Amino acid sequence: MEPRWSSSKALWERACRSIGGGVASSVRGGVYPHQLYFESGKGAHLVDIDGDRYIDYVLGWGPLLLGHGHPAILEAAHAQLDRGIMFGGGNMHEVVAAERFLGALGWAERLLWTNTGTEAVQIALRLARAHTGRDIVVKLGGGYHGWHDTVLASYMGYGKGGEPVPHSLGQPASSLADLRVGLYNDLDNCASAFEAEPGRIAAVLVDPTSSNTGSVAPEPGYLEGLRRLCDEHGALLIFDEVVSGLRLGLSGAAGRFGVTPDLATYGKAIGSGMAVAAVAGRGEVIDLVLQGAVHSGTFNGNPLAMTVLTATLDVLSQPGVYDHIDALGQALVKGVRMAAIEAGHVVAAHHLGATAMVAPGVPRLTGPDDYAEADWEHWGKHVVPAMLEYGVYLLPGGRLFLSTQHTLADVDATTEAFADVFDSLPA
Ligand code: PLP
Repeated sequence: MEPRWSSSKALWERACRSIGGGVASSVRGGVYPHQLYFESGKGAHLVDIDGDRYIDYVLGWGPLLLGHGHPAILEAAHAQLDRGIMFGGGNMHEVVAAERFLGALGWAERLLWTNTGTEAVQIALRLARAHTGRDIVVKLGGGYHGWHDTVLASYMGYGKGGEPVPHSLGQPASSLADLRVGLYNDLDNCASAFEAEPGRIAAVLVDPTSSNTGSVAPEPGYLEGLRRLCDEHGALLIFDEVVSGLRLGLSGAAGRFGVTPDLATYGKAIGSGMAVAAVAGRGEVIDLVLQGAVHSGTFNGNPLAMTVLTATLDVLSQPGVYDHIDALGQALVKGVRMAAIEAGHVVAAHHLGATAMVAPGVPRLTGPDDYAEADWEHWGKHVVPAMLEYGVYLLPGGRLFLSTQHTLADVDATTEAFADVFDSLPA
């Protein structure tokens, strides 16, 4: 009999000869022992090229909040494919999508379309610098904000703050000259950043739910405190909602926690798998594109992505959608906690909107510091591969993305698999 995943292994070895590193994104190269190759996805399930079927909690690393092949998304995409993918001019769909998305957010006056979260953060920082005439950006805690040179720092140092260190080979240290790294959930620390460099800080950049290092609700008053500090010091507050956008509800973290940033970045789930991202916020800041702040992009606002985005909002606006996801999250967390207790494992589990977190080796998870303490090597090398054997596809960093198409039956099967896997691994 062929060993499990033999077709994926063979294709990965073949890919290594034609694709740099064998993968299309560095993070996929970090999956142990190699990434799987998939044939198709339907609902909450994926089928790999070896014919194995999985309940999918990776969801494209976040974008597929509506799951795979949602009928409304397929219909919108097919209709637009017939009409045209790109026009190189304006199209009705970019306007309709902007109106609908701003309506969903409820707090932003204007937006710019772009293609990836990385680009959205890049343009947000440019606008903040243009608006304030200052250069320094303070990023908080374990936030990952994309792979461009000026923010790719210290994110795997989690919440420790301090001097930003380049994260990538080939990244000039000078690219981080205007970046400071502060602590998440620590207002005094942010205040001291302002005091250390008065009148020089353009923006505070925060992922409101620390979504790459914990997926937690911020401490009560924290976002309000950041808002106050930014106002006092004439800096802009930027929320990176590339992950939390739409996953926490239509208005994202800004709406959920009732704090209005000056700008916020969105990506991933807004496009249901299309490469689309946005920066939204105050009209006078966004309108700096009319006064020389450059915002370009061949694919920006393409009608295919825009119709899919509008269809995504249509689905998510239906009553009960977020309640369904919430019920899934609750059931998942309850089941994982029970499985861990019964197997004698120390595991923290919680969910926030459409993201659940399971962290091995820590009793609680409140932010980047606890996240850094969890045993991610054990998770990546033992829990994730063992769960694959049970037909459950997980991310390396402990997040389980939930979609509208997951069912309670999927969640039950998942928690049963966790129970067996925890039992089979040393506590
Ligand atoms: N911001 C956050 C919070 C992210 O998690 C990511 C990607 O994971 C990005 C920005 C960058 O988005 P993209 O991968 O679409 O460039």
